[in-house]
Amino acid sequence: MTQTFRTIRNSLKDLQMDSSKPFVFHASFSSLGEVQGGPETLLGALLTVSDAVLSPAFTYKTLLVPETGPENNGLVYGGDDDANQMAEFFRLDMPVDPAIGILAETLRKHPKSDDRSSHPILSFTGMNVGPALESQSLQEPLAPIEWLYRQNGYVLLIGADHTANTSIHYAEKLAGRKQFTRWALTSSGVVECPGFPGCSKGFNQAEPVLRDLTREVAIGKARVRSLPIRPMVEKVIEVLREDPFALLCEDRECEQCNAVRNAVTASLNSTALEL
Ligand SMILES: [Zn+2]
Repeated sequence: MTQTFRTIRNSLKDLQMDSSKPFVFHASFSSLGEVQGGPETLLGALLTVSDAVLSPAFTYKTLLVPETGPENNGLVYGGDDDANQMAEFFRLDMPVDPAIGILAETLRKHPKSDDRSSHPILSFTGMNVGPALESQSLQEPLAPIEWLYRQNGYVLLIGADHTANTSIHYAEKLAGRKQFTRWALTSSGVVECPGFPGCSKGFNQAEPVLRDLTREVAIGKARVRSLPIRPMVEKVIEVLREDPFALLCEDRECEQCNAVRNAVTASLNSTALEL
């Protein structure tokens, strides 16, 4: 069935989100099947849920891998010359990375968009969320998510799963999980970007513990889920405090998840020594 503005809007109503609250979305537009009018129609329907909308506008093409750097940083230094050759200078008008999705780029280009925050890798875009975008700095890349948390907003997953859920990274940070350093190419040289989140491939393991907080509807073949961010983040923090190895991925070669395991093991050992 072809989705229209009206069918999408009606489905979104069933999520019963508070229209006075902002939300962040993570969307796989193609998962909806055919949508009359394209991504603009989906964005228009989303704006009937709330007029304050936030989205990642990440630009991974700016990433550079240096020859050396801090230890246990979830990265193989040097040897990535091909990617370095392909790296692009960050520009505010750079398209959102295709991995983030066409809906984010549609929001960024919307005439009423707040434009974009200036982090050279982890920028955000949105509408009526100026303070969220302004809150971000090089040191605090997840500040827009913190703003959403303080506003008691929502996370909306549209045909996307928790591996796209940036707010789980915010919970990891609050729980004290290891953060990383990355580097970006900018017009003023190579910029070090601290506070960088790790791997999200294991985040679907949070689905069962978040079920009670989740409202879900189907739009076409897509699962569309909304979660209130504050209890969601608090639940994930609880999970990570109980098991500091939780939500890591199962790929034994994953540099980032292994770096988290190393950091947790080192801190457990030092606690044991103190006792
Ligand atoms: Zn991993």
